[in-house]
Amino acid sequence: MAVTVNMALFVAEAIVYFCLMMTLLHFRHRIGLGVFLTALGVMHFVETYLAAVFYVTLPFGVVSPGSSVFFAGKLMMILMLYIKEDASTVRQPIYGLFLGNLVTLAVAQLLMLHPEVAAATGQLADMGFLSEMGVLMVWGTALLYLDSLGVILFYERLRKYLPRQTVLRFAICGVVLLTFDQVGFYALLSYLYDAPVSVFWGGWKAKMLAAAIYSALFALYQLAFRGHNGVLSRRPLGDVFSDLTFRERYEDLLSRTGRDTLTGVFDRSRLEIEAPRLIREAMRNDQPISLTIIDVDHFKSINDRFGHMHGDDMLRAIAACLQENIRPVDHLFRYGGEEFVILQPDATHGDAMIIGEQLRMIVSATIRTREDEAITVCLGVASAPGDGSSFNGLLASADSRLYQAKHAGRNIVFGQPSWMETSGSEALPDM
Ligand code: GH3
Ligand code: MG
Ligand code: MG
Repeated sequence: MAVTVNMALFVAEAIVYFCLMMTLLHFRHRIGLGVFLTALGVMHFVETYLAAVFYVTLPFGVVSPGSSVFFAGKLMMILMLYIKEDASTVRQPIYGLFLGNLVTLAVAQLLMLHPEVAAATGQLADMGFLSEMGVLMVWGTALLYLDSLGVILFYERLRKYLPRQTVLRFAICGVVLLTFDQVGFYALLSYLYDAPVSVFWGGWKAKMLAAAIYSALFALYQLAFRGHNGVLSRRPLGDVFSDLTFRERYEDLLSRTGRDTLTGVFDRSRLEIEAPRLIREAMRNDQPISLTIIDVDHFKSINDRFGHMHGDDMLRAIAACLQENIRPVDHLFRYGGEEFVILQPDATHGDAMIIGEQLRMIVSATIRTREDEAITVCLGVASAPGDGSSFNGLLASADSRLYQAKHAGRNIVFGQPSWMETSGSEALPDM
């Protein structure tokens, strides 16, 4: 009977702990993150004390709610803070708890030097307990530090295999790190007190139970505040930001920066980051890759005759047209004023010439000034490995071909003619 009540109370304690801490974490932007962090620190004191003196019998052994409900809870809350905020925020409680524990220990050592301690409240200070706690605290503090870093690094490592399953990753991290912690803590207990193996298993099962309860509560929390299909890009921005971890935020930011403000396509800074990476990847996989430069013909005269505003509209229309007519795997960048670059992974020179020719025709057929004049473009195509395997090498070859196209007239695609037979393309320059 008592065991059943103990069990029910254990579950209730975990639920109360989770609900309070999660409420503080959830409303951190309204009430301040300090409230959550301070509560975490205060709980740590209670946890250490309970782990030393308070044990109850559960169906699977005699366990301390201090080291299961509170300790497991604290570790999971540290991970939760990381999931909701980022690495620089979660560093604060990790270092705060570590340094706070060390100071507590140092002060406890000094306290023990007092020549006499008055029995002010009718209770005598337990010096033996203080010094015993000291050893446990040093060990526990070091373990907590490793656990906290470990739980975050492991959570990140699992992202590769379970990118969207936040709750599952959370649960696996809890199981792995709390097991690691239990092994570490039991090692000291068995060294100091010859603790039997049953102590290890009892404590381990209690921590696993706590991890299971916290994971289930986390899943409920996710359901309540996020809904079932949490596809990042489809959620409103406010939600995205409150759920993203540091890396997710970084990637999200990266996908939105590097965009050209006029046309919305990627800008030159993004080209300089992406191109060397894509070319390296292609070379590593023994695949071709092509680079095309596009320059609008007589664009200055469009500006001169219709004004810059209309020139801007034309640039937007050209960018949209190019974007619509490249393959999904191709990347379009605005290189400069009215110049664009297209990177085409897995495209031979012949493939790139065919696509270039299609782009040339589509632009001249569809892009019109407000006086219904056709706008045309010239394209210079270069391909790796034939034109070299560096970004600068490809860019220089494509640029010199663009220059040749301009000299040959306008509205032309220019590549390396001698390669055409080998690639099977008939898309020779339209003179
Ligand atoms: P070519 O056929 O030889 O390329 O002739 P072009 O007139 O296009 O010559 P060039 O490429 O040297 O001229 C680029 C012009 O593009 C110069 C500039 O006025 C215009 N331009 C550059 N950036 C912008 C922009 O953001 N908006 C507008 N409206 N015009 C731009
Ligand atoms: Mg130009
Ligand atoms: Mg031009």
